[in-house]
This record gives sequence, C-alpha cells and structure tokens, in this order.
Amino acid sequence: MGLKIYLDGAFVDEEEAKVSVFDHGVLYGDGIFEGIRAYNGRVFKLNEHVDRLFNGSRAIMLEPPVSKEEMKEIVLETLRRNSLKDAYIRLVVTRGKGDLGLDPDKCPKPTLFCIAAGIQMYPEELYENGLEVVTVPTRRNTPETVNPQMKSLNYLNSIMAKLEAKLAGVEEAIMINNEGYVAEATGDNIFIIRKGRLVTPPAFLGILEGVTRNTVMELAEKRNIPVEEKVFTRYDVYSADECFLTGTAAEVIPVTKVDGRTIGSGKPGEITRTLIQDYKELTKSTGTEIFL
Ligand code: PMP
Repeated sequence: MGLKIYLDGAFVDEEEAKVSVFDHGVLYGDGIFEGIRAYNGRVFKLNEHVDRLFNGSRAIMLEPPVSKEEMKEIVLETLRRNSLKDAYIRLVVTRGKGDLGLDPDKCPKPTLFCIAAGIQMYPEELYENGLEVVTVPTRRNTPETVNPQMKSLNYLNSIMAKLEAKLAGVEEAIMINNEGYVAEATGDNIFIIRKGRLVTPPAFLGILEGVTRNTVMELAEKRNIPVEEKVFTRYDVYSADECFLTGTAAEVIPVTKVDGRTIGSGKPGEITRTLIQDYKELTKSTGTEIFL
C-alpha cells in the first residue's frame, strides 16, 4: 500500500499527491522545507523544526497557510494516517501557483504538503569506522546571496557539491565558503574536536543552523566538554583530533578521512562516540507523542 500524503488540507494517496507545473516551488525553488524524524512513536524536536520553517518563511515573505500549532498537528496526523512510529518527515511550503514570471505577488495561495516515509540512513559500518569526505570546488552560498540559514527549496548549491563528491568517489562533501572557511556538508553540519574542545562554524557564516547541531552542542555542554562556535579552515580539519557531521537523517556520523588525509587515529574518536550514544539516548527518550 502506498503512502498517505498531506496536501493542502487533505490526505491523498501518493499517486494523487501532485502539485502544479505552475507552482513556483517547482519553477523557481521558491519555498521552504524541513526534514524531521520520528523515533518510537515520538517526533524529535518538532517545535524547533517548525520554528525554523516559520523563520525561513518570514525571511522570504511567504506566509504559511496554517499556524505553527496546526503545522505540528499536520505532522502528527500524517504519521498516524501512515501508522508510522519511526519515520523521516518532509514538510514543505511553496509559494504556490503563479504565472511564468518571478513575481511572488502573483501566487495567491501557498502550497503545503507533508510526507512521512521510512528512513534511509548511512550503513551501520560507517558509524563504526567513519565516513570519507572531500572538499569540493563549489563554494557555499554566502549569507548575502541565498543565505543557507534558510532551508529553502533551492538546493542546487548543495546538489552541485554532492555531484562533485560523487565524482571524487565519496558520498559527502565539505563545503568551503568564499573566504576559505569551512561551512558545512551538503546536508549536514560539521564539528571538529581539538584538545578536547568541540568547534563548529557559527550560523552567521552562512550555514543551516541544524537542529541536530544545536542538540549536540547541548549534549556536549552537559558533559562539560567545551564548545566553541568559531570559523576554521581546511587545515584545522586535516589536523583535528576528531571530526563528525550532524543532521536529522545522519544523526551524528564520524568522519575519518578528508581529502585523503586521515583524521586523528583514523577511527572514530572517544568524544564522537560518546556524543553518538548520548544523541541516540535522547532521541529514544524525548519528543512529541504521536499517539498512534
Ligand atoms: N546543513 C544542511 C545544508 C542541511 O540541509 C541540513 C539538514 N538536512 C543540515 C545542515 C542539518 O540540519 P538538521 O540537524 O536540522 O537536520
């Protein structure tokens, strides 16, 4: 049986879940989205994801067609309709149907949809041995272009980097900004660890302020591991003791090779392994109840 998709106020079969070719989400990537996880009957960090969706919408002057509370209920109801306790949820609001011009004012009604489906994670082996990544030629968009702080439907910047990673024979890229500072991966944030301190780029540099990133920072602080939001370069990654990526889908994943350089011992480090466990525990024990 196919999935039940929420689309503009109704639940429809996945074959029926279609948007117009005149939707500016399709024509121009004009919209905002979220990726959310449910674990064991609870939605993890639902408020944070919905807040980020609304913040991004505000930045592009797109008013979601429902309130935050209604949006959360849509997520929960989509999970119920699909009897999903563990899922990856995609929540999308687009500018809606307009004409062939760019003008958002010609799009009277935003499109809203929510998909809840199974999860595709990296293979377990990578969590034990670490991921190999490369830096790529495509630079991260700067904040004064399409600010990566908005999770906009325009993901070509990340897709270019993903293509370049795959051409280099690996699955993920680290993106550098125009000034040579490390920004983030194509769909994940980056952390390095040096002398027992966690370092991650500040959001103003032009990165998505990941919900997982912020959660991991809190988990580290709980363990009295110092955390700094600081700019750093490729050199700092190559010479780090440990490195990992964070994201809703990937959770916390160790990185053990960057541009052919072995990071630390070449195995996931102590602090990374601790944070992987702490994150797992938290996803198991917290979240908004779905009431299936
Ligand atoms: N950076 C980018 C570019 C992303 O698309 C994502 C989400 N997939 C992240 C970072 C991680 O954010 P979160 O932890 O909220 O999933």
